[in-house]
Amino acid sequence: MVNWLLRLGLSGHLSRNLIFAHEFAHFQTAPVLFAYMLGIFFLAYTKGGTGMGEIIFLFVSVQAVWEMLSEGLVVLEDSAAYRKSYNGITKLPRVLFWAGGGMLTTAGWAVVLCG
Ligand SMILES: [Zn+2]
Repeated sequence: MVNWLLRLGLSGHLSRNLIFAHEFAHFQTAPVLFAYMLGIFFLAYTKGGTGMGEIIFLFVSVQAVWEMLSEGLVVLEDSAAYRKSYNGITKLPRVLFWAGGGMLTTAGWAVVLCG
């Protein structure tokens, strides 16, 4: 789903390379995500009164963070090549991805800090 959105407009070859890099980045960022997840769920636990719906939403939010971490790593590893891959392709799907991911991340923190 995320890869489908991010790779819109790319040729098959470029798309496959970036999908592979993205999936590999999930493994590389797993320890960071695990620490993040422990932190945010610990805060939710200490706050108390977190409902089932909020917990499910936190999982969605954490997943969004993982998607952004993975794609961010793909960009950072070779930002010149990344930009080149998307040469001439509309930015809209990537803007939607980063904006949506950012909103889900923020909403997760809102559940923990204000909910
Ligand atoms: Zn992903």
